[in-house]
Amino acid sequence: MPELPEVEVIRTQIQSQLPLHIHGEERSPVISSLLRKAHAPEAFKTKDLVLKQTRRHGKVLVLDFYKEEKHHGVVLSGFGMSGGWRLSEEKIKEPHTHLQWKACHLNGHTLYLAYVDPRRFGSMAFLDPLEADLRLQKLGVDVGSAEFTQDYLKEIFKRFPQKEIKPFLLDQKYFAGIGNYIASEICARAGIRPTRPVGKITQKERERIISSTPLVLFGMGERGGLSFSGGYRDTTGSDGGGLDHLVVFHQKICRLCHKTEVKKIIQAARASFYCPRCQK
Ligand SMILES: [Zn+2]
Repeated sequence: MPELPEVEVIRTQIQSQLPLHIHGEERSPVISSLLRKAHAPEAFKTKDLVLKQTRRHGKVLVLDFYKEEKHHGVVLSGFGMSGGWRLSEEKIKEPHTHLQWKACHLNGHTLYLAYVDPRRFGSMAFLDPLEADLRLQKLGVDVGSAEFTQDYLKEIFKRFPQKEIKPFLLDQKYFAGIGNYIASEICARAGIRPTRPVGKITQKERERIISSTPLVLFGMGERGGLSFSGGYRDTTGSDGGGLDHLVVFHQKICRLCHKTEVKKIIQAARASFYCPRCQK
């Protein structure tokens, strides 16, 4: 399942090709019935749209479209289990391509930008900029941003002291961008057992959560993201190679102490992995 690091890899790859000019009716997006039913992309079919900027909030990819220098529309793309974007100089013919733009690169070359989603759990919203901002504000603090601080954790943990740390970290209302493997890995690097109630986490441990999060997120991103059964692909179709970076998730022996067998438990219907020696 694509999570924050994978979404960030895709965002960076698209960003490196911008601006992309989408001209004329014949180049308006080709959209599958799946997306047509769910949304109203009419505003995105007009002429002379320019994809100028990408952003990311948690696991949501944000595409900013401009028309005559005015911020015209925003696409919010959630990847679900297996969604992703492709960039190619050739038309993208992969099965399960739900959206495709034919665009013109600054250098005059044609470039195709497409959304592919075999398992169809992704979401896509075409919104005006104001609506998009309102939706993004409803998500919690992006854990890859500077707003994710020890004080923020302190405040949230105080409100829900009984909650077990690992499943709680998956709550996108408070921690936008944390997915299952990331939550397990953050707990491991912070030395906290996944079952610990957050009310019993010390200030030092909160600091360790904050300091280890970028390592888990962006250490992974540098390696091009991860692919589990969901079938993540980056914009070139590569499945990434981030598995080297994991210390407990799907590991046999803890890769922090290199001697203890990793335990697997189920919390809130999701697998958690931890080292009984390194995590208290
Ligand atoms: Zn260990």
